[in-house]
Amino acid sequence: MSDDVFRLPLQYLKGVGPRKAADLKKAGLLTVEDLLFRFPLRYEDRSRLQAIVSLKPGQTAAVSGEVLHASLQPTRRAGFRLFTALIQDDSGQVQAVWPNQAFLKDVIRAHQHIVLYGKVEYWGSRGMQITDPEFELLRESESDEPSTIHTGRIVPVYERTGSVTTNMQRRFVWQALEQLPAELFDPLPADISARETWPTRRDALCQAHFPEATAPIEALNAFRTPAQRRLIFEDFFVFQAGLALRRQKNAQVRKALVPTVDDRVRQAARAVLPFKLTEGQRSALAEIVADLQQPWPMQRLLQGDVGAGKTIVALIAALVAMENGFQVAFMAPTEILAEQHFRTISKWLAATRFRVALLSGKITAAQRRTLLPSIERGDLNLIVGTHALVQEQVKFRALALAVIDEQHRFGVLQRATLAAKGLHPDVLVMTATPIPRTLALTECGDMEVSVIRGLPPGRKPVTTLVKPDSRRPEVYDLVRREIQAGRQAYVIYPLVEESEKVDLKAATAMAEHLARDIFPELKVALLHGRMKSDEKDTVMRGFVAGQIHILVSTTVVEVGVDVANASVMIIEHAERFGLSQLHQLRGRVGRGTHDSVCVLLYQAPWSDEARARLKAMSETNDGFVIAERDLQLRGPGDFFGTRQSGLPQLRAGDLTRDADLLELAYAEARKRVDDHTLSDAERNYVESVWQRQFGLINVG
Ligand code: ADP
Ligand code: MG
Repeated sequence: MSDDVFRLPLQYLKGVGPRKAADLKKAGLLTVEDLLFRFPLRYEDRSRLQAIVSLKPGQTAAVSGEVLHASLQPTRRAGFRLFTALIQDDSGQVQAVWPNQAFLKDVIRAHQHIVLYGKVEYWGSRGMQITDPEFELLRESESDEPSTIHTGRIVPVYERTGSVTTNMQRRFVWQALEQLPAELFDPLPADISARETWPTRRDALCQAHFPEATAPIEALNAFRTPAQRRLIFEDFFVFQAGLALRRQKNAQVRKALVPTVDDRVRQAARAVLPFKLTEGQRSALAEIVADLQQPWPMQRLLQGDVGAGKTIVALIAALVAMENGFQVAFMAPTEILAEQHFRTISKWLAATRFRVALLSGKITAAQRRTLLPSIERGDLNLIVGTHALVQEQVKFRALALAVIDEQHRFGVLQRATLAAKGLHPDVLVMTATPIPRTLALTECGDMEVSVIRGLPPGRKPVTTLVKPDSRRPEVYDLVRREIQAGRQAYVIYPLVEESEKVDLKAATAMAEHLARDIFPELKVALLHGRMKSDEKDTVMRGFVAGQIHILVSTTVVEVGVDVANASVMIIEHAERFGLSQLHQLRGRVGRGTHDSVCVLLYQAPWSDEARARLKAMSETNDGFVIAERDLQLRGPGDFFGTRQSGLPQLRAGDLTRDADLLELAYAEARKRVDDHTLSDAERNYVESVWQRQFGLINVG
């Protein structure tokens, strides 16, 4: 193939030795293609190098010249030093100043040729200075490369990767582009490129790295030029086409157990329903039930805000399976939640013939010995447990549906486990909080998505207050008033893994302090993940029964815990929590008919980002809005806490910035895969990229 150069390892480029290749590899750059699809961080217009004499204060300018002398200078502030350099071109001299970057003394020296890019300021009577500029040293020895790579043009600025500076990377990219064949294979269907009037793939790569002089710098830095958008689209398109092919493959799998839905099943469902489903619940349920009756296994993500009522929807789906004589596994991320689901589901199914069991970590070996065979014989219809349920040696007689609750991270893994065991049940994954659409399209893109819009009737929005720690006394008054009115309260402590011991101590001390000094007349209890499971159980039971007034807890109550009488929540160190997590926590109150309050206590100093998070919390109760904000603030890499979804990272695209292109890529890719209009070459390309980058095409 003519574009074999794409596959070449980076060591093949001149100047990339083993050390640099290793550094690049750490950043995920292995081949020439990887390098070319790593966009610059930004672009600088150095096409008009300014004569130093013409510099004006306030402007951002690029100048080039020789370093006359450079030195590290002390200031009157102890420990604070300035590195300064005097630069001269044909027209004059300018001083460059870098505060507190002592290491520069080993980098910038007299007689070097340098390009500076930065903000121009007055330097008293002596002329102009440029403060904290971007700089680049131009080395004479490299005069065989065109000098126009680094200056005299719009230049790309790359993120430094280990020992590979932006300067070097620029040179490598230039080299790689020089070697591209005139004709490059283009994985994009031609009609799309034509319609969007995008440049060819080759031109797009050249222009995205070394833009023409006429390219508008603002558009470049907003990543909105046709060349950039074309490559971003390609990134999304190839990825979405890969997902669509996976879905198509999945639809060819035949599941062993296919439920049918008739009047008897509908009647049974109606009999179980403890309340009227909302419109949102009904439409989500209809989508799920339609999937259940298909011959291929369902892979569906059920999204809904906290408290939207996902559990009952899943249970009705379970009922459809059970009415057909099949079994259901209902999995929760924690023991506490599994136990809660077990209680609710047992209650809902009490009047039916179906038998529910809890397979928890704390049952005795003897209990296990009777439970496991009855699951295998099919005597038990619905088994609730933690995620270990599918990983352990649990054998089902007729597992038709696996419900995975409150899931952000491990959905892919569990589905892979099920498939690896040769089981192809229907899978329903339920999210803890809404996932922004762009993330759902990428991270969960191999699943269909159902969304429950709205909340059950009668919910009152939770009032959210953001308060500094100094206002604690009045917050305690509020708690006391609520409890006197018959309500209950949560006090939540963060638990960060790195400082788990310290935090646990803080939570424990807080519980004691509240019990002894603040609310001696009330019952205060502590709940955290390190407690033994029966201790946790006793505490949770006490809180559910209303015998405990104040539950001091770490984030173990985060997901799903449902106590309708709780009307106040204090979140300590709210500045430390992520936005989605705060929203999830807040969802523990406002579940009944009472007015509820969530107080976010913060301790200074807080970052701008923390401020933005708490502000968002006080402004909206809508989980979908919160999720979008969270994505904007944190970026996709951090949205799920850790990158464990198992799905790949995108190269050029940015889910917030390029949401429109993602939508387009999703629609186009899906259409072409479903219509079988992807050419063989296009499909092969997609599969080879997936295989190489993700190695996952057969999983799921
Ligand atoms: P989540 O979607 O966060 O998992 P749950 O399934 O725990 O929410 O439901 C939250 C609460 O709302 C539960 O107490 C549940 O019984 C109740 N609920 C769910 N659907 C309805 C409905 N249609 N009408 C009234 N209450 C409902
Ligand atoms: Mg739930």
